[in-house]
Amino acid sequence: MIPLAEPQLGGNEARYLAECIRTGMVSSVGPYVERFEREFAAAVGVRHAVACASGTAALHVALRLAGARAGRTVAVSTFTFIASANAVHYTGATPLLVDSEPRTWNLDAELLHDEVVRRARLGRPLPDVVEVVHALGHPADVAPLLELRDRFGVRLVEDAAEALGAAYTGGPMDGRQVGTLGDLGCFSFNGNKTITTGGGGMIVTDEADLARRARHLTTQAKLPGSGYTHDTVGYNYRLTNLAAAVGVAQLEQLPRFLAAKRALAARYEQMLRAVPVVPAPREPWASPSHWLYSILLPGPEPDRDGVIGALRAAGIGVRPLWLPVHRQAPYAAAARLGGSVAEQLHRRGLSLPSSTGLSTADQGRTVSALAAALRDPAAALPTTRLRT
Ligand SMILES: *Cc1c(COP(=O)(O)O)cnc(C)c1O
Repeated sequence: MIPLAEPQLGGNEARYLAECIRTGMVSSVGPYVERFEREFAAAVGVRHAVACASGTAALHVALRLAGARAGRTVAVSTFTFIASANAVHYTGATPLLVDSEPRTWNLDAELLHDEVVRRARLGRPLPDVVEVVHALGHPADVAPLLELRDRFGVRLVEDAAEALGAAYTGGPMDGRQVGTLGDLGCFSFNGNKTITTGGGGMIVTDEADLARRARHLTTQAKLPGSGYTHDTVGYNYRLTNLAAAVGVAQLEQLPRFLAAKRALAARYEQMLRAVPVVPAPREPWASPSHWLYSILLPGPEPDRDGVIGALRAAGIGVRPLWLPVHRQAPYAAAARLGGSVAEQLHRRGLSLPSSTGLSTADQGRTVSALAAALRDPAAALPTTRLRT
């Protein structure tokens, strides 16, 4: 089976882990946690980084620090992994689910911008926070969102869980990486993400006070000193030294991982020229990290499950793009903005094998199987039925 995305742990991971075990430094206080935070901040180009137990935990704390709480509204992408919306729910805030735009598949920032301006003109309540997701490794268009922050004080939190290393090119944001433009940015180190710590996340920010409060909230809001005194309800959200040791080793390999993902995307683009699919977005102002290389099948209602079944039967690990958050049971009644772009992405989209170690031969096999399945999905479907 060609896996969808498989971690590579061939660097210093085992050596650093062995050191943690030898020294007994396994818990959330330890030199690798500090080192991971320092080196991660330098790698993405921000002043401060706070390691967390997961990407979801990072988002929860970042949203709370941006002001999300009961009675407030957070505008969030509907085309995303459910964790982006769950983090809003944990804070008690009300989500406003925003549709995608077709160029990058990310939150339609122009649409949200115009809606906020319209509400302001009518004297109606505005969203308090925007949580923008950089889906699948392509940067979202954040310029209209930064304008909302400047004009109306709408805070910006970036869910960059899937987009470590993605950046903007040209213009005033040239060279800036995703996660560094909002008030706070969040990353994930889950097993299938660009780098992994087994499980983990990071909050980044340029504001020292936000970083200090993030660290405080992730450590049970315990005040310094010998007594167990806490000034608010915090969380046990810190990353362990064991996990951070793996993170430091993974970070050493990040440039190589990103180069591999970008080479893989370039090869897919080349190989897919003869196949009638829409390739992954790549805007001229963006340098995507291509976390999972994804495509759209042709036509408004393609037999996506047939194609996925055929590819899986051929031993190729693929998966559909997400069912949008507004179609998920817990959020079916949530307020929405926009149309059906996210739904179309789900109906037509799938992610192809994207491991950093994927061989050119396996990529070729993937594209051939995809082309064959598009010619006749039913023919290759005798044994497997897609479970969704
Ligand atoms: C993976 C992911 C998260 C959650 O990260 P975990 O580390 O799994 O908690 C949040 N948002 C998006 C878009 C993700 O892909």
